[in-house]
Formats: sequence, structure tokens, C-alpha cells
Amino acid sequence: MKRACVIGWPVEHSRSPAIHRYWLKLYGIDGAYEKEAVRPEELAGFLRSLAERGYAGANVTLPHKEEALRLAFIADEPARAIGAANTIWLDNTGRLNASNTDAYGFMTNLNQEAPHWNRGRRPAMVLGAGGAARAIVYGLIAQGSSRVLIANRTRDRAQALAGAFGPAVSVIDWDGRNQALAGCGLLVNATSLGMTGKEPLDIDVGALPDDAAVADIVYSPLETPLLASARARGRQTVGGLGMLLYQAVPGFERWFGVRPEVTKELRAHVAATLGGA
Ligand code: NAP
Repeated sequence: MKRACVIGWPVEHSRSPAIHRYWLKLYGIDGAYEKEAVRPEELAGFLRSLAERGYAGANVTLPHKEEALRLAFIADEPARAIGAANTIWLDNTGRLNASNTDAYGFMTNLNQEAPHWNRGRRPAMVLGAGGAARAIVYGLIAQGSSRVLIANRTRDRAQALAGAFGPAVSVIDWDGRNQALAGCGLLVNATSLGMTGKEPLDIDVGALPDDAAVADIVYSPLETPLLASARARGRQTVGGLGMLLYQAVPGFERWFGVRPEVTKELRAHVAATLGGA
């Protein structure tokens, strides 16, 4: 039996088991996907004993993403550029490989839901400068965005992120975000604002051009106040659940040997675990 897991501390909140167990059942694979609560000081030992524990690989979630990259023997280009790993596997010589599939997940979903996001090659605005924002900026640049504006409450973090990606990325003031929306073709919320239990993101979506797209990577609730406001103003919207589902595809294929599909049924299944919000 093939086995994989998600490693985090805490790990209870992870949606990965709902996704991978759905696919295991759908494709009739003799496999299992577990949750592993691993303390930061135990991560290196856990990864060294991955094969003994019977795992082909794992997803890695907070707070282990940077350390998992450091501990990997081989890391692919997205993981190195993003500076964090979310997917690991043992290759046929037993070496630990690392990837980051968040950019793939975000971009695949964006290309599907808003295929014209880069029409006119207008700037994209990314709000936030955490790990998710870094993956998104990487993905946008890799897929041809000529200019990305980053606004973050803590400007230093935005500056550090921009510095890692060169001249196509510039920083604007958090308080200047509304004024800068006028020429943008895409707005992405990569902060945690708008999550259930958090305050909503305060932004004037009406300042965007009529044909701009608005993406929110928050997926709980499925329709955030930002998405509701963008939809009400006729802007194209892209929710966060698709990113979560697509980022899981490459790992499943690595561990279980089948490239799984993201379908309406999978969306509904995972949405139900989020309370159908
Ligand atoms: P993170 O590293 O903790 O970053 C959080 C970001 O939110 C920072 O930029 C932070 O700004 C900003 N923020 C938090 N509270 C704020 C407030 N009150 N006002 C203004 N800005 C605020 O988190 P992350 O890992 O990047 O994740 C960010 C969000 O994306 C989370 O909600 C997470 O659930 C979601 N996410 C979704 C997916 C998906 O697959 N859909 C994947 C990854 C993450 P400061 O720098 O100023 O603190």
C-alpha cells in the first residue's frame, strides 16, 4: 500500500486529507493519506525516517515549509524561488526531493477562471507579503506579468519580497492601494483579511477597470466579502478553493502514480468539509 501524509504543527485544520482521500477512493488506489502532527524540533528526524514510516512523500504545511526546503536533497526551481516547500517525495534512490506547488495551483486556477487576466499586460496588484503572496508573485512573473505591484501592511516585508523578484515587482504603500487600482488588470488578495473570524479587506474594487479580474486566495468562506463586492460591481472573480485543489495535483501524482482531476464533484466535496460556506 502506498502512503503519504501532511506534516504540520498544528495539522488538525489541514484540508489536504479531504482532497487526497477523495482521489484515492475515486481512482481505486490501494493507498492512504494521514495527518502527522510534528513539532518543529522533530521535523529533521521525521523527514529522515519517512521511508521507515512507510511514506512515499508528504505535503508540508506551517510552520515547516522553509525548513523542509532546507532539509531536502534536491529542490525544484519554484521551491527555490519561493523559498519554501509544500510537497516532498523520496526518489528511487531514497533522496528527499522538494517542490512548491502553490504557484502552480494559483496560476492553474486563475488561467481557468479568468483566462484574460493578463490582457493588455496591465499591472497586477498583490495584497500581502507572506508565503502565499511570494508564491503568487513568482507565478505571475513566470507566466508573463510585466509588472506586479505589492502592497502590504508591513512595508518592509513587501520590500523584501519585491527585492527577490527584480525590477518587474514594485512596492506601493498599503494606504495607497485604492489609488493604484485604476490601471490594474488583476487584483489578488493574499492577506488573511476576509477569512472567517477576521475583518474584511477594506478596498474600493470599483476603482479597478471594468474588465479587471479579482482573485482571493482565502477559501473560508468560499465567497469572501471581497469577492461578493467584486461580483456586485461586475468584475470577474476567482475564489481561493481552486488554488487549494490544484496545488494538490502534482503531489498526488508523485506519490500515487495517477494525475488526478479537479472536478465540480471534488469542489463540492471539499466545500462541504468547509461547512459548504
Ligand atoms: P502569512 O505568511 O501569515 O501572511 C499573512 C499576510 O496577511 C501578511 O501579508 C499580513 O501582513 C497580512 N495581514 C494579516 N492581518 C492583516 C491585517 N489586519 N491588515 C492588513 N494585513 C494583514 O500567511 P500566508 O501563508 O501568506 O497566507 C495568507 C492567506 O492565504 C491565509 O488566509 C491563508 O489561509 C491563505 N492561503 C490560501 C491558499 C490556497 O490554497 N487558497 C494557500 C496558502 C494560503 P503583515 O506582513 O503586515 O503582517
